[in-house]
Amino acid sequence: MALVRTVLILALALILPGVPSAQPGGKVEVLWLGQAAFKITSPGGKVIVLDPFLVNNPKTPAQYKNLDALGKVDLILVTHGHGDHVGDVKDLAAKTQAKVYGPAGLIATLIDLGWVSAEQGVRFGKSGKVQPLGPQITITQVRAEHSSEVTVTDPATKKSTTHPGGEPAGFIIELENGFKLYHMGDTGLFGDMKLIADYYKPDLVLIPIGGHFVMDPKDAAYATKEWLKPKFVIPMHYGTFPVLKGTPQEYVAALGPTSTKVFPINPGDKLEF
Ligand SMILES: [Zn+2]
Repeated sequence: MALVRTVLILALALILPGVPSAQPGGKVEVLWLGQAAFKITSPGGKVIVLDPFLVNNPKTPAQYKNLDALGKVDLILVTHGHGDHVGDVKDLAAKTQAKVYGPAGLIATLIDLGWVSAEQGVRFGKSGKVQPLGPQITITQVRAEHSSEVTVTDPATKKSTTHPGGEPAGFIIELENGFKLYHMGDTGLFGDMKLIADYYKPDLVLIPIGGHFVMDPKDAAYATKEWLKPKFVIPMHYGTFPVLKGTPQEYVAALGPTSTKVFPINPGDKLEF
């Protein structure tokens, strides 16, 4: 079956010059680790970890609370400075030596705080395209409607200090086979989601639905139906804390009939595209 598929893809690529030549057997693996944390494995075997918050994440399966369980990590991406997104950046960066890419103001603060070295932290901005894993994988930073601060608590005095975290962001990740993921970060509704979808045409959208800090199921359903219209969606950023009340069931109900396929998966589940 796999051989038949490969032959078909090769044949199509020969017939249609515009069709990107997919890597034979190459699949995109998407592992959800709870909240906004994902491990993406590209068709060429590159590993990208987004918004690592695992050790203190109540929804992360026990096996992934040990950061070694992630295995090889080639790149760490962070959307904004809140603890449920940058919680394990310092330790994961130290352990893997992977570069940490994110909004310019956030990375500047992480460098100042000593979480990452100036060589390891790479600042970029919205519409910026970066290729830290080679020319076949392109990551573009896009807008998110949220806030971004980094709060650090002194373990001895328990006093917290808050630092500027730049502007929050989402990422469009285009992999070797042309498959495009859109990790929205934490965001409320904003009209330029339509622009982002029209311009970048993501296949898979990772969409926050929990409410309170981000879109609730009704907001997310509106964005999906009216603006994003992707082939696939994975709901995220719900149920981790009591205020994040939205559920995938409410999201699916608000969505109604649609051509978008929703995957209401659980933390620890892995999908292949
Ligand atoms: Zn969050």
